[in-house]
Amino acid sequence: MKQNVSLNRAILLVCADSVTASLITQLLNIPNEHWDELCVVASLDEALHYIRKQPPLCCLLDTQVKTLSDQTVVKALRREYASDNLPLLLINPTDADDDAGQTLAQGAQDYLTLNTMTAAQLTSAIHNAVHTSQLQKQLNNLAHYDSLTGLLNRNLLYNRLSHAVGRCNRYGHSCAVLVIDLNNFKPVNEIYGYDVGDKVLQYVAACIRDNCRSTDSPARMGGDEFVVLLEHVDEQTGQLITEKIVQAIQTPFEVNGISIQLSACAGLATYPVAASVEELLKHADEALVLAKNAQDQNWVSFSNEHKERWTRQQILERELPKAIANGELALVYQPIVCAKTHQLRRLEALSRWPRSDFAVGAPELINMIDRLQLIEPFHEWLFHTAFKQMHQWKQESINADICLNIPANYCYRQSIIQTIEQAFSSYHIEPSRVELEITESTLMLYPERSVDLLQRLHDKGIRIAVDDFGTGYSSMAYLTLLPLDTLKIDKQFFIENSKNDRNRKVIEAVTALGHSLGLDIIAEGVETSTELELAKQVGCDLLQGYYFGRPQFAHGSWAEYTQHFNHIAPPSKQTST
Ligand code: C2E
Ligand code: CA
Ligand code: CA
Repeated sequence: MKQNVSLNRAILLVCADSVTASLITQLLNIPNEHWDELCVVASLDEALHYIRKQPPLCCLLDTQVKTLSDQTVVKALRREYASDNLPLLLINPTDADDDAGQTLAQGAQDYLTLNTMTAAQLTSAIHNAVHTSQLQKQLNNLAHYDSLTGLLNRNLLYNRLSHAVGRCNRYGHSCAVLVIDLNNFKPVNEIYGYDVGDKVLQYVAACIRDNCRSTDSPARMGGDEFVVLLEHVDEQTGQLITEKIVQAIQTPFEVNGISIQLSACAGLATYPVAASVEELLKHADEALVLAKNAQDQNWVSFSNEHKERWTRQQILERELPKAIANGELALVYQPIVCAKTHQLRRLEALSRWPRSDFAVGAPELINMIDRLQLIEPFHEWLFHTAFKQMHQWKQESINADICLNIPANYCYRQSIIQTIEQAFSSYHIEPSRVELEITESTLMLYPERSVDLLQRLHDKGIRIAVDDFGTGYSSMAYLTLLPLDTLKIDKQFFIENSKNDRNRKVIEAVTALGHSLGLDIIAEGVETSTELELAKQVGCDLLQGYYFGRPQFAHGSWAEYTQHFNHIAPPSKQTST
């Protein structure tokens, strides 16, 4: 804790007049049990010099010593050692000043008039001033420091940060923010109790303090989270300090005879990579998250590359809700054909976010939708867009069957029923023309939660497919319990078959299993004629993959849309796909 509690029992008198000085000396009666010496200086400069070396117990300032107004002088003195709350008394050798009240407001503890003062009054005024200043110091500590560790608290850190960034802006300096988080602190509290927990936090604070410089500002933000502001450091020095602090924290130590080894993660952010206090803190937090997720490093320094990625992410996350609401997302459709006839049977709708600045892959888009809790508006958009497209094709006498990807955590929500039904009725879609694809890995996380709703959807005539089959761990019991119509064998099995012959056996087994349960089997990822032959030989019913064509937008007519595909047989007499 920054406690410049003065052990100096000297009184500093700033007075240029020898008569006044000797009067005060007599009144103070030095030495006595309260103070050891009186140091008299004649100018404010000398006073500041003395105070900087070692703050006195109390400073008495003869108001006639200066040329500036009393308030300006007090302000100047306060600026020099404001946080130390130096007890400061102004002494007017003649009469009380009209401005006394304002001078006190600037931070002097008292304003005394010498010509009527007794020794007892002066002693008591000094005692009061010292006492008040100690109280102020305690209040200051409570307001600015963490009582457990003595490190800065959040408020004072933010204050220091904004000043540091201000200085960096003005003078082109650099600074850094380090965020430190303990990985295994909670069990320490739970197993050994709060007393040990507190000592562990004090140990961590000491590790941080011992490994940064006196100009740095280490703070405890609460719990087991610490932040250090490092001034005048470039990224490299920041990294050295980070490494030292993390190493120190992770060194085994003892508390109450208990041996403890902590594990810590840290994120470092530097100015000017970050351009503001908020960005510094966000970058450092982001770096901490990266460190926590990293396998092989316990701290990460937020680089320009990270910033590029982070900025992209920020932009995307900010704009995604609007993009969904404004219909800026789009669907592409990929054909799924009959293995025997190559006639088009179904179309899988896949989501896209067309942007001129960044490419956003479908899995990233879907993750973001989940993370930002946009599942409801997204699916409303998805159903409406897909069904509207089906409706448009219907105008051309094309009855397309559409497959839609649905995350398992949307299948638990009651709202799916209402949303999909509303979209059905808006575009007069028969539910049996729609298949919902749910990936095996997510479906099997909580199969019992999905059974109910899937059953209700199925009862309406909607088909259900298990997507990416073979990549998760399906329980056979659930395969029979869930109302399924289709298994889509994951594309990796076909794409990698040339490298690994065992894939063929897996595909054969899965196809046989699916057929025994009465399910359609779709081979995904059919890219080449070799894969095509394999899928046919093992008995897959339907085929999907680049061999027939990549997913395409359906901006124009059905004919324009289908011209992108190869090897697809013309539709049979019925217009249905
Ligand atoms: P998925 O459901 O397994 O979709 C098939 C993915 O494989 C698509 O990638 C498709 O373009 C790609 N693909 C198709 N044929 C081939 C092929 O022959 N070879 C190879 N290598 N790839 C092929 P896409 O469109 O990038 O989508 C990736 C994943 O993103 C999808 O995998 C699906 O899990 C997810 N996704 C896409 N749109 C949606 C959506 O609207 N909702 C949900 N929940 N997920 C979606
Ligand atoms: Ca799919
Ligand atoms: Ca798939």
